[in-house]
Amino acid sequence: MAPEAAARPTRAELRLAAREQSRAQRRGAAKAATRTALLRVALPSVAALGVAAAAAITVQGEADQQRAQAAGRVPSQATADDAPDGTAAQAAAQVAADGGRTQASRGDARQPLAGTQPAEAPPAPAPAPEPVKPKVVMPVAQHGLGELFGEAGSRWANRHTGIDFPVDGGSQVMAVADGTIRTQWNPFYGYMSILKMSDGTEAWYCHLRSYKIRKGPVKQGDVIAFVGSSGNSTGPHLHFEVRPAGSGPIDPLPWFLANGLDPR
Ligand SMILES: [Zn+2]
Repeated sequence: MAPEAAARPTRAELRLAAREQSRAQRRGAAKAATRTALLRVALPSVAALGVAAAAAITVQGEADQQRAQAAGRVPSQATADDAPDGTAAQAAAQVAADGGRTQASRGDARQPLAGTQPAEAPPAPAPAPEPVKPKVVMPVAQHGLGELFGEAGSRWANRHTGIDFPVDGGSQVMAVADGTIRTQWNPFYGYMSILKMSDGTEAWYCHLRSYKIRKGPVKQGDVIAFVGSSGNSTGPHLHFEVRPAGSGPIDPLPWFLANGLDPR
């Protein structure tokens, strides 16, 4: 019976076997958990995977170092409790390496769907555009337009060559930009104030009641005159025209809009 007795595992061997089994199970579980975590983190992109894997290895590596030091100080405790974690670190590194390949192959697999699915990792949002600072200000305080550019009407020889701001007589009229003022009388436009801007564009303010500034440089927003109904006009309003250098009147509304201001 001696061989049988010799073949029977001792209690110590049984403990060792149980420990080995437990270690293997834990190793497997740790590896699976690590793989799952890494894959979750890694999914957004290959670049993110690289970072995640590097981070995992770094953190794990530091933890291992600390454990190894602890184990060195207390060798008797450096048993089954430490081994699986150390193995897990290796597993993490391995999974990280595997993950790269896995991710790459997944990327390949997803290629045909690229057109039908939203991109997983949208490009970093472009920096919010700077709010456009209007280059011009309102010629009167109140928004809102009456007759528009190009409209036909009995009051005009041809088409309407500007836009009308239907505001009360006496309302302040402002320089829409820095420039130079000149004033004149015209039987059709009445008392008119002309603001010449730095690019040569002229703004015509017409049917005025009176002037505040007859001539000379003004700054944007300066009050230059007051609304009236002089000339060929049926009631108080500001008739406003825009005339680029060397050009006839253009539609002031898109000009305002292009300069960042909606007068409507
Ligand atoms: Zn008009």
